[in-house]
Formats: sequence, structure tokens, C-alpha cells
Amino acid sequence: MVTDYDLIVIGGGSGGLACVQRAAEYGARALLIESHRLGGTCVNVGCVPKKITWYAAQLAHAVHDAPDYGFDLSLSGHDWALLRQKRDAYIVRLNDIYAANLERSGVSLLRARATLTTRPGVQAGGHHYRASHIVLATGGHAVVPAIPGAELGITSDDFFTLPARPADVAIVGSGYIAVELAGLFSALGTHTTLLVRGERLLGCFDPFLGVQLLDTMREEGLEPLLHATPTALRRDPQGKINIDLADGRRVGPFDTVLWAIGRKASVAGLGLDAVRVLCDAAGFVRTDPFQETNVSGIYAIGDATGRAQLTPVAIAAGRRLADRLFGGQKDRRLDYENIPTVIFSHPPIGTVGLTEAEARRRHGAAVKVYSTGFVPLYHSMTTRKPRTLMKLVTVGSEERVAGVHVIGPGADEMLQGFAVAVRMGATKRDFDDTVAIHPTSAEELVTMR
Ligand code: FAD
Ligand code: NDP
Repeated sequence: MVTDYDLIVIGGGSGGLACVQRAAEYGARALLIESHRLGGTCVNVGCVPKKITWYAAQLAHAVHDAPDYGFDLSLSGHDWALLRQKRDAYIVRLNDIYAANLERSGVSLLRARATLTTRPGVQAGGHHYRASHIVLATGGHAVVPAIPGAELGITSDDFFTLPARPADVAIVGSGYIAVELAGLFSALGTHTTLLVRGERLLGCFDPFLGVQLLDTMREEGLEPLLHATPTALRRDPQGKINIDLADGRRVGPFDTVLWAIGRKASVAGLGLDAVRVLCDAAGFVRTDPFQETNVSGIYAIGDATGRAQLTPVAIAAGRRLADRLFGGQKDRRLDYENIPTVIFSHPPIGTVGLTEAEARRRHGAAVKVYSTGFVPLYHSMTTRKPRTLMKLVTVGSEERVAGVHVIGPGADEMLQGFAVAVRMGATKRDFDDTVAIHPTSAEELVTMR
């Protein structure tokens, strides 16, 4: 086949950018097609603006604690609009940096919506392009439930364009986005209600993390409502939103309702059916361990595949795919085991490896667990006393550390190094033999008995 490019990547988010740039470094003739802003979800409506807002929330907590450390502060509020303006300006700078980087690496950029076509290749911007390899990196979008009035609610995308901080918010969900955004709103002064359909937060993590977070949220004035499944949203004459729940309760009124109940693959209109690329039951693109779909020469990476929907995962999958296709590394692929992750709640949660339950399912009686709980030194001076909890899950007589789970201040920065240790197969003895850093919370991970 005569081709226009060696590689076409559809989607200029975390995965697509990483893949196309690595391919270009190997000398591949590469085209990136992006319909919106470069950087995708993470840069524009995800990790980056979220983390900036999280820093603002951390400062709000510090301001609250400051009198306990002897400060006499007078505060005249928080300027949401100023934070948004500065955050937006920073993101525009990032968008421009991505465009400049592409140009520098010789990647062609087409700003258009792309569709796969039966005539092998991609249709975009009124032209047809052919390539030896096509990568789908189209990401995902928030799910909104099919209930009356659902359109009155917003999603995480809209969180970043709110012109002012609402006074009363309901967030529906119990996963990453629900707990993170609830923490941000609450810390910055919004009365926040979290509607959880079950009785646990963060269902796919070790349960003690969600239990502790729920306790801390309650102590800090956030209102979690359990067994709360919305069946309808209604706007009242004052313009506020009320929510009907499945058990007959009605809650509200709220200024804003935010859906955070999971994300789906963004594949509508991509032409998957026409070229017979298969998706799984949840609508995510199916791939083999080397990111290739059932159609030879078409690959998928990142959130569109639904596996560990995290930026570094999309990046790693994209780079490894380029290494394999253009870098002569024929077995190179991403291993989806032991992926560390942090939930930017207040306090943050960091976790890597197996939960206790997963370890017991896989290894039965060979599992031994170590845990600890304490009020960190910082909070010895403060009125609020959130506890830090930690758990090590070990396997086998050599006590290989198969899981590290932490909730508490600093967990976000603590976990990266411990993830290296877990990946290298460190044992409890290796942890014990590592000299502690004092006084820190992290030292508890190497002094647990
Ligand atoms: P995306 O980044 O979504 O990029 C997909 C791109 O494809 C988009 O730019 C889209 O416009 C484009 N596109 C789609 N269809 C087409 C088409 N047909 N033609 C052309 N272009 C198309 N992860 C973390 O690791 N840490 C965090 O702290 C974190 N926080 C998050 C906070 C929020 C609120 C959200 C929503 C997500 C967060 N994530 C976080 C997840 C992270 O953002 C995603 O895992 C990551 O962005 C996935 O990258 P991707 O390349 O697969 O897709
Ligand atoms: P999650 O998958 O984390 O959580 C969604 C949760 O919502 C489900 O676990 C489920 O919990 C609950 N839920 C599902 N359907 C409904 C419903 N109809 N009504 C009420 N609750 C429902 O999805 P998010 O949207 O929070 O985030 C999407 C992904 O984005 C994450 O999985 C993560 O990969 C990524 N992300 C990563 C971040 C980070 O790295 N810090 C931050 C933000 C997002 P249950 O079944 O227990 O009721």
C-alpha cells in the first residue's frame, strides 16, 4: 500500500501525544489529528486544573490550621474567578507548548475530527489519509444517567468553567472524581453533599481507605448521603435544583449538581463499526496485550481502552507502542500490574499493588498484612485530628510486599518511590532494613511491626 504516513494518531491527549512524539523520534512520518485542544482531558479538564485547584484547597486547610500554630490571620475570602483566570492562562501556555513541541519533532498536526474509513485510512478535514499504522487515542467522557432532568446537572468538564463558586453543591458518585471535587468544593467553602448509591467510597480500593475518608469528610463538614440513588432532578421556581432519590427521599435545594459516576470511551462517529473494530460490553475498544485491536494495523491506547484510566498509563502505553512499531523493540508493551495511583482527596490517598482482598483471593493463607494508624505530627498542634492509616499487604514466606495503601497528608508524594520497591519485588525485610527518615509519616512504612 502506498501510504501518506507511517503513523496516524487520532487524539492529541496524553496517550496520543506521547505515542506520536516517540514515533517521530524514531524517524516515523507521523500525523496527529486532534479536534479540540492539545493535551486532551488531563491538561484541559483533568489532572492539571484539578491539581491546581487542589493546591488552593490545601491552602484553605492551612489557613484554617494557622491559628493553631500561633498565626493571627484575617482573611477576606477566596477569589474563585481569579484562580480560574490564572489557571486558564497556564493551560493555554501548555496548549501552545504542546503545539511547539510537535512542530519541533516534525509531527504534522491536523485540527479536525477523524473517522476511520473502509477504504483503508482516515477521513479528516475533507481529506483521506493512509498510513501503515493507525492509533486510536480518543479518550473518554463523563457518563450522565438517563433519568428525568439529568441535563440540569453538570460534569467535571463544566467544573472548570464555573464562573463563581456555588454555595450549595451535590456531587453524585463515589469514585475518584466525586471524592476529589467534593473535597475541593468543601475546602473552598461550598456546602457539599456527596450522594453515594452504596455505602462505600472508592469501591475498587482497599475498603479501609474509603471508610477513613468518609470519617474525615464528616468531621470536616462535608455531608455524605449513603444509599442515595437519584431518580430525577427538578428545578424549583427559585432556580435551584432538587433531587428525587430511589427510596422516596427528596434532597436539596442545590445551586449545582455534578455527575461523577464514571466515564465512557469517546468513540461515537469514529467509524469503528464500518471497519469492524470490536469494543467490549462497556463500549471500550478491545486490544491485545500489545494494544492492537482485532483489525491488523489499528491500535488503541489510553482511556478509550478503559484500562486504568490514568495519564501516565496512556503515556506509557503510547510510548511503548511506538518503541515496538518504530524502535525495533518487538516485545515492548505496558504491563498493567502494579500501577500506582493517587486520589487527590483531603487528605490524599496513595495505593499500589494488591488490596488485601485481592491478595487473599490470589494467594489465600500465604498473605500477611501489617497496618498502622496515627495522628501525624502536623496535626498534634491542630484542632482537627484526621488520622493517617497505612497498610502493607505481603505474600509468601519471604513476605514480598504486594500492596501498599496509605491515606494521610503526604501520601501523594510518598507512593512513587514505594511503587518502585513493589515493582522490584521488595520484601518486608527490605522495608525493615531501610533506614527511616525522621520525623515523617513515610517512616512508618519501614518501621511497621
Ligand atoms: P484524552 O486525554 O482524553 O485525549 C483524547 C483526545 O482525543 C481529546 O483531546 C479529544 O478531543 C480527541 N478526540 C476524540 N475523538 C476524536 C476524533 N474523532 N478526532 C480527533 N480527535 C479526537 N489521571 C491521572 O493520572 N491523574 C489525575 O490526577 C487525573 N485527574 C483527572 C481529573 C479529572 C476531572 C478527569 C476527568 C480525569 C483525570 N485523570 C487523571 C485521567 C486522565 O485525564 C486520563 O486518563 C487521560 O487524559 C487519558 O488520556 P488519553 O490520551 O487516553 O485521552
Ligand atoms: P470511577 O470509576 O472512579 O467511579 C465512579 C463510581 O460512581 C463507580 O465506582 C460507582 O461506584 C459510582 N456509580 C456508577 N454509576 C452510578 C450511578 N448510576 N449512580 C450513582 N453512582 C454510580 O469514575 P470517575 O468518574 O470518578 O472517574 C473516571 C476515571 O478517571 C477514574 O476511574 C480514574 O481512572 C480517572 N481519574 C483519575 C484521577 C486521579 O488519578 N487522581 C482523578 C479523576 C479521575 P459504586 O459502584 O461503588 O456505587
